[in-house]
Amino acid sequence: MITVYFAAGAARWPSYEAPLRQALAEAGITAALSPDCTDPAQVDYIIFAPGGDISDFTPFTRCKAVLNLWAGVEKIVGNTSLTQPLCRMVDPGLTAGMVEWVLGHSLRHHLRMDRHILNPAHIWDPTCPPLAAERPVTVLGLGALGLACATALRAVGFPVTGWSRSEKHHPGLRCLSGPQGLQQALTGAEIVVLLLPKTPETENILNADSLGWVAKGAAILNPGRGDLIDDTALLAALDAGHLGHATLDVFRTEPLPQDHPFWAHPGITVTPHIAAETRPATASRVVVENIARAEAGAPLLHLVDRARGY
Ligand code: NAP
Repeated sequence: MITVYFAAGAARWPSYEAPLRQALAEAGITAALSPDCTDPAQVDYIIFAPGGDISDFTPFTRCKAVLNLWAGVEKIVGNTSLTQPLCRMVDPGLTAGMVEWVLGHSLRHHLRMDRHILNPAHIWDPTCPPLAAERPVTVLGLGALGLACATALRAVGFPVTGWSRSEKHHPGLRCLSGPQGLQQALTGAEIVVLLLPKTPETENILNADSLGWVAKGAAILNPGRGDLIDDTALLAALDAGHLGHATLDVFRTEPLPQDHPFWAHPGITVTPHIAAETRPATASRVVVENIARAEAGAPLLHLVDRARGY
C-alpha cells in the first residue's frame, strides 16, 4: 500500500477524487489517497498544483515524486526545499484544448473574421482572404503543446516554422533552434504563436527588436506566459501599425488589472487564461502512469530539468 497526498488544493479535490481512484484501480495500485496529510514522512507521492497546500517539501522524506497538475512549473521549480523528482503535466485533454484555442484564434486572424462579425456600417467588402498556404505561421516552442499546435496548423495548410532550444526535425515543419534561429523564425511571420515556458532565457523574447522582424500586420497569439512579451514594446508595435493584432491569454499579473491598457486597446483581445486546462479524467491517468512507473523502477515521464527551468 502506497500513500498519495493530493496537495493540489481543496477546490480541485472533488473533481479529481473519482478519476484518480479509478485510474489507480485500473492500474492495479493499492493506495491511500487523501487531500489530508497527518505524517509527511509516510507520503510516497505528492500530487501538486501552484497555490496548493505545500510550500516546504523538506518533511516529505519518503516522497518518490511530486506530480504537478500544471504544464508550466515556473512557480515551483525554484523552490529549494523541493529536492524530490518533479514531473510536469502533459495531458491529452490539455493539449487538445490548446490546439483548439490556437487554431480558432489563428483562423480568426487569417480569415479576418472581425471585418464581418463587427460591421456596424454594413460595408460590402468582397475581398477574399488568401489561402492558409499563403500565410506563414511561426510557433515559438515545439514541446508537447507547441508541436501539437504546429502540426494542426500545418494540417490546415499554413506553412509552419517551429522554434525550440534544441535542434528538431518534424516532417512538414520548418524547424529552427537556438538564439541564432530566432530572427529567421520570426522574419516574415504573419501569425506568431508563443508556447514557450517562462524561464530567464525566454522572458521578453518578443521585444522591440524581435517584434520588428515579423511581417507588417502580423497577429501575435500568446497562450504561453505573459512574461514572454515586453508589454510596452507590444503596445508600441500595435500603435505604430506594425502589428495587426494580439490575442493574449496570459499576463504578468493575473487576473489582468482592470486599469491595464490591454483591456481597452482595440488591437488586443484578452482571454482570461482559458486557452487550455488540465482535464481531471485524462490527467489522472497521466499521474497514475507515473506512479506505476516509479513503483516499477521505470523512468518517470515529463521530468522537469531544474537547470533548464522547464
Ligand atoms: P514543453 O513541452 O516543456 O515545451 C517547451 C518548448 O519550449 C520546447 O520545445 C523547448 O525547447 C522550448 N524552449 C524552452 N526554452 C527555450 C529557449 N530558451 N529557446 C528556445 N526554445 C525554448 O512545454 P509545453 O507543455 O509545450 O508547454 C509550454 C508552455 O505553455 C508552458 O510552459 C506554459 O507556460 C504554457 N501553458 C499555458 C496554458 C494556458 O492555458 N494558457 C496551459 C498550459 C501550458 P526544447 O524542445 O528544445 O526543450
